[in-house]
Amino acid sequence: MSANPESAASASPAEIAVTESQVPSAPLPGATILGYPRIGRDRELKRAVESFWKGSLDLDELSRAAAELRGATRSRLAELGLTQPASVPADFTLYDQVLQVTATLGAVPARFRDLLDADGALDVEGYFTLARGEGARPALEMTKWLDSNYHYLVPEIDASTPIGYVDTAIADQVREAKEAGAEVRPVVVGPISYLLMAKPSDEAAEGFHPLDRLGDVLHAYGHLLMDLQKAGATWVQLDEPALVSDSWNVDRERILQAVRDAYTWLGAIVERPQILVAGTYGSLGDALPVLGRAPIEAVGLDLVAGSLPEAGDLASLESKAVVAGVVSGRNIWRTDLDAALSTLEQLREHLPEGTPITVATSTSLQHVPHDVERETAIDPQIRSWLAFADQKVGEVIALARGLAEGREAIAAELAQDADLRNQRAAHPGVHRDEVRAAVDAVTEGDRTRAPYAERKAAQDERLGLPELPTTTIGSFPQTAEIRKARAARRKGEIGEAAYDEAMRAEIASVVALQERLGLDVLVHGEAERNDMVQYFAELLDGFVTTEHGWVQSYGSRCTRPSILWGDVVRPEPMTVAWSAYAQSLTDKPLKGMLTGPVTIMAWSFVRDDIPRAQVADQLGLALREEVADLEAAGIGVIQVDEPAIRETLPLRRADRPAYLEWSVGSFRLATGGAAPATQVHTHLCYSEFDVVIDAVDHLDADVTSIEASRSRMDILPAVAEHGFERQLGPGVWDIHSPRVPSQAECTELLQRAVDALGAEKVWVNPDCGLKTRAYAETEASLASLVGAARAVRATL
Ligand code: GLN
Ligand code: ZN
Repeated sequence: MSANPESAASASPAEIAVTESQVPSAPLPGATILGYPRIGRDRELKRAVESFWKGSLDLDELSRAAAELRGATRSRLAELGLTQPASVPADFTLYDQVLQVTATLGAVPARFRDLLDADGALDVEGYFTLARGEGARPALEMTKWLDSNYHYLVPEIDASTPIGYVDTAIADQVREAKEAGAEVRPVVVGPISYLLMAKPSDEAAEGFHPLDRLGDVLHAYGHLLMDLQKAGATWVQLDEPALVSDSWNVDRERILQAVRDAYTWLGAIVERPQILVAGTYGSLGDALPVLGRAPIEAVGLDLVAGSLPEAGDLASLESKAVVAGVVSGRNIWRTDLDAALSTLEQLREHLPEGTPITVATSTSLQHVPHDVERETAIDPQIRSWLAFADQKVGEVIALARGLAEGREAIAAELAQDADLRNQRAAHPGVHRDEVRAAVDAVTEGDRTRAPYAERKAAQDERLGLPELPTTTIGSFPQTAEIRKARAARRKGEIGEAAYDEAMRAEIASVVALQERLGLDVLVHGEAERNDMVQYFAELLDGFVTTEHGWVQSYGSRCTRPSILWGDVVRPEPMTVAWSAYAQSLTDKPLKGMLTGPVTIMAWSFVRDDIPRAQVADQLGLALREEVADLEAAGIGVIQVDEPAIRETLPLRRADRPAYLEWSVGSFRLATGGAAPATQVHTHLCYSEFDVVIDAVDHLDADVTSIEASRSRMDILPAVAEHGFERQLGPGVWDIHSPRVPSQAECTELLQRAVDALGAEKVWVNPDCGLKTRAYAETEASLASLVGAARAVRATL
C-alpha cells in the first residue's frame, strides 16, 4: 500500500496526483442499481440459512445454495439489461451487510473472540453466532438501518478490538463472478458509516468513540481494495448512508474530517478499483463538497429522498462521475419517468461540462420485493402502477437511454408511463370524495379529548381498578393450533364458521387464563391476527396485499408489507366482534386492541401521490369509527399501538417537527372521539423514546406502555424530569427471551418505577406482546408480574 493511515490527514491532493496510479479507468455504465434483494425470489436464502441452523443442510450445501442464488441474481440482472461490466452489484451476505464488514475486519467483541481462527477470521458458524448469540453470550444488538424497516447488527468497538483484513468473502464474490464470465461491482458499507453505526463496546474506556479506530479500519479497507483490484473489480461501491443523517452523537465537523481523511487515504492507494462513494437515504449536504475534493472517482446522490445539490456543490464534482439515484429503492411505485428525466437533465446542466452520469436507484433495492409480475392476484390495473426490483431495473435502463439519446429515444416508455399515471389518478378508489371531505372537515376539536383530570375521574369511577393495575400488551402466544386453523381457512379446508369457532375457543382460554392469574385489565389475545398491520390492511378499502412480496427485515426474517394505494374506508367494524365476545366472558375490563395510523403506514408501502399527513388522517378517521363502535359495544379500555412512531422519525432533525405534528395528530384523530370514561392506552416498543418523549406526551393517551426491563428502567428519570402527567406502564418482563423473571426481579423493577414516578401513575405490564412466547413461560412470568404488583401494593 502506498500510504499509511497516520499520514492520512497530511496527504495533500497534489502529492496524490503525482503517484503512479494503477487504478483502472473503465467508465461506469450508463445504468445501474445500488443493490438487489438478497433473499431470493422464493426466499431461497431464508430457507437455506434456516436449514443450516437446524442442521438439515451442511456447510457445503449452504455454500452451494448461496452461490446458486448469486448466480441466479447475476443472470436475472443481465437478462433485465444490466450487461455492462460493473453494472451488476455484488452485495451478497448470508445475514447482514454490516455484519459482513465486521467479519471482513474480524472486529469481534471480546465475548466472541474465541471464535476467531489463527488469522483472526470467523467461520460461517462464528458469523451466525455473532448474529444470533449463543448460551450466555448475547448476540450483537440489532437496530434499524437508517429510516428503513431493515435492521443491522451493531458493531461493538473499543481500543483493543482486533481490526484487519481477515476475510476475503467480498473479493471472492468478484472472483466467482469473473469465473462465470461477469464483472460485478462489489458493494461494501463504507468505513465512516461502519464506525458511526457502531457503538463503544462494554469494555471501552469512558469517552471512547469507534471513530477513534478510523486509522485501523482504513488500513483494513485498503487491503480489501487491493484484493478487490486483484480479483478484477474495476469499480467498488462504498455506501456511506450515515453521512445524510445528523443524528449521530458526534460533531459534524469531526465526521467531515473523518470523511476527508478516509477518502484522501483510500484514494491514494495505487492498486485499487475506482471508488464510488454512495450517499444514500437523503442529501449528503456539507459532505458532498468534501467528497468532491477527495481523490475518488464517483459520487452517488440520492435524488429521491434527497434534493438536487446546490450548483456550487455540484461544481466540486469536476472530473468525477456522478451516479444519480432517481428511481426509488424504497417504494414500489412506478417511477414518474418524465419527472425523473427532468431531474437528470437539470443535473446534467448544473454539473461541470462532460461529467459522466450513471442513472441508478436511490438506494439498494433490498427494501422492495423482487418482481411484481408474479402478483397475479392483484387487480391488473393496480398492478400496472407498481414496480418492484426487477421493474426498477427496466426503469433505470430506460432513463439512461433517455438521458443519453434524448427523450424521443424513449418516447414509447414516456407515453405509456404518462398514460398509466393518468389512469391511476382517475381511478375511483384513488380519490373518494367522501373521504377527502371528511379529512377536510377535521377540526382541532376532533383531535382533543376532555381534560385529563376529568377523564381520570370518570375512568376511576367506571373501572374501579386497584393501584398498580396489571395488564398485558395484547397478544398471547401464537400456538400451533392457531396457525393450523389459519392455514386451513386459507386453503379452504375449513369454512368461516369453523374458523371463528376455533378463534373463539382460543379467546375463551386466554380470558380464563388471565382471570386465573389475577390480571386487572384483560385482553382477547389477538389470535385472529396474522400480523398487526396486515390484519387491518385486509379489512380496510384502499389496500392490497401481495403473495410473494417478501422483504428482508433482518437476517432470515422477512415481512410482506401491504400496499396502500387508495383512499381509506372502513366498510365495517374490524375488531368489535372479537373484543365484545371476550368482554362477554368476564367482569373485568377487557381492552380493545387497534394498530395506530403511523404504524400501519410504517409497515406498509404507502401511496406517493398525496402527502403522508393526509394518508395518516384517513387512517385516523377509519380507526376513529372503530373506537366508536368498540365503545358502543361496551368496551371501556382501548389500546392503539404505535410502536413505529419512533422508528419513522426523520433522519434530519430539521424534518422532525413536521413529522411529529402529523403523526401525533393522526393518533389524536383516531382517539379524540373517545368519551372521558373510556381509557385510551398506547404502546410503544423500544425504551429509547427519549427523543420523542414530548411527542408521546402529546399523544394524550391515558396510559402509555413502553419497553423498560432490559435497560432496568433507565428511561424513568428522563420521564420524571419531563413531567409526564399521565400513567405509564414501563415493562417489568423482557419478553424477547424465553427466560422467566422471578417475582423478586419484577418487584425490584416495579419498585424503581414507583420511586421514580409515584404509585398513582404506574401500570404493571410486560415489555411487549407475547405472540412469540410459549405458554409455559408466559404463565410463569405473568404470575411473577402479578405477584410483584401485589407485593408492592402491600407496601403503599
Ligand atoms: N398489541 C401488539 C401485540 O401485543 C403490539 C405489538 C408491538 O408492539 N409490536 O402483539
Ligand atoms: Zn411492543
